[in-house]
Amino acid sequence: MSSGPKKQLPVLDVPVGSLNSDGSRNFVHPADVRGRFQRVRWVVFAALMVVYVALPFIRIGGEPAVFLDIVRRRFYLFGATFNAQDFWMVFLLLFGILLALVIVTTLWGRIWCGYACPQTVFLEGIYRQVERRIEGPRNVRLRRNAGPWRWDKVWRKVLKHGLFLFASFLIAHVFLSYFVSLPSLWTMMGGSPADHPVAFAWSMGMTLVLYLNFAWFREQLCLIVCPYGRLQSALTDEDTMVIGYDVGRGEPRGKIKKQQTGERGDCIDCHRCVVVCPTGIDIRNGLQMECIGCAACVDACDEIMEKVDRPKGLIRYDSQRGLRGDEKRSTRGRLVLYGIAVLAWAVGMIFAFQTHEPFEANLLRPPGGTPFVVSDGVVQNTLQVHLVNKADESQTYVLEAQGDDVALVLPQPEVTLEPGADRHVVVLARVPEAEMRAGLKARVEVRLEGGSEEERVTLEAPVLGPVAGVGGDQ
Ligand code: SF4
Ligand code: SF4
Repeated sequence: MSSGPKKQLPVLDVPVGSLNSDGSRNFVHPADVRGRFQRVRWVVFAALMVVYVALPFIRIGGEPAVFLDIVRRRFYLFGATFNAQDFWMVFLLLFGILLALVIVTTLWGRIWCGYACPQTVFLEGIYRQVERRIEGPRNVRLRRNAGPWRWDKVWRKVLKHGLFLFASFLIAHVFLSYFVSLPSLWTMMGGSPADHPVAFAWSMGMTLVLYLNFAWFREQLCLIVCPYGRLQSALTDEDTMVIGYDVGRGEPRGKIKKQQTGERGDCIDCHRCVVVCPTGIDIRNGLQMECIGCAACVDACDEIMEKVDRPKGLIRYDSQRGLRGDEKRSTRGRLVLYGIAVLAWAVGMIFAFQTHEPFEANLLRPPGGTPFVVSDGVVQNTLQVHLVNKADESQTYVLEAQGDDVALVLPQPEVTLEPGADRHVVVLARVPEAEMRAGLKARVEVRLEGGSEEERVTLEAPVLGPVAGVGGDQ
């Protein structure tokens, strides 16, 4: 390795736990911590991992509970089916999820990040556990990492990264099963990569990305990449429940002896809350964007408070006002606005599901065709009914001409479509040239065979042709 002159990086004004003052990466090795919040997190992690893995296997109405079928361009969500024409409904649904996240953040801060985000769930639930079991607790890891490359260090690193790769491979395939049906995925996994190079490239690419993320990038994803973390200051206010340090109680901080003589606050400056932090920050410096709300510092400090015989909660879940000892506001304007937004969203969803038809039909003019032809004194327009079966079973549609002014020829009055399939059905609209006038419309009724009165639509399209006195012969 060449040892040329080291590039001088700019010195940072603001200390960031995961960066050294010259801007280089400070790899965070959080210490182990136990406590009531960590227990809750573990239960949530375990439950979510089961849910993430199980969802593609759970079948509702014959389809996976959550499945974005890329090949058939359909989205299955707990029994509801959306196809390409229903994209606006999916958008509405996603908007609802976003709204829920905004409200949860306003009420409880980054509870999503600390307890439920897949980044946290897999990093804490799998990768850090593997690391701790193979490389030991924080102080042992740090000592070994700083030491020379001996056999003891080599085999541990090789085993750890091998297991990281294997875990990434498994998670990548679970992720893919949300987009490719499980039978297809099994078949592909059993076959040669040459038979399905695109899927193979995706699975390997995804494995590599996950491995790099969980083995190396880690908290940087929350700090640099994730936009949600960066929106915190806009989503929270002084009444949001966050994790904070009680400055009034803790300061002035000092060693235990001084604390016992009453000269100091409750913080004994043991740095335990700092070394357990997965993003490497010191929560005593105040609320920071880097805090992912994992509550590790809460449990760590409670443990210390118990040992020094002081009340728990020096670091705790509280609002900024609560931490200052101020009264909480009874009404928060933004929550009222969110309530109105939820109401509007709920009305939109009810409307969307009530107007959701099992099929879609539109009367169209074929693109690029002649608007009309005149032959033997008859004006003829060629139209198409575009039919889409949005239901989960095959359906038969009956097409019928409506109205007397325009004669319709329907070469295919009955059409059967498989689930998700669509077809263009030709309709010829004919009017004697002498009777041609402006405003004539071709009307076709499309109904679902065996369906109710509601499951029928009347489609119309203008009939074009030479109209006497308007432009003459065309
Ligand atoms: S763990 Fe508690 S006592 Fe120790 S430094 Fe942090 S706030 Fe102070
Ligand atoms: S400051 Fe506390 S709650 Fe925030 S990320 Fe660090 S340990 Fe977790």
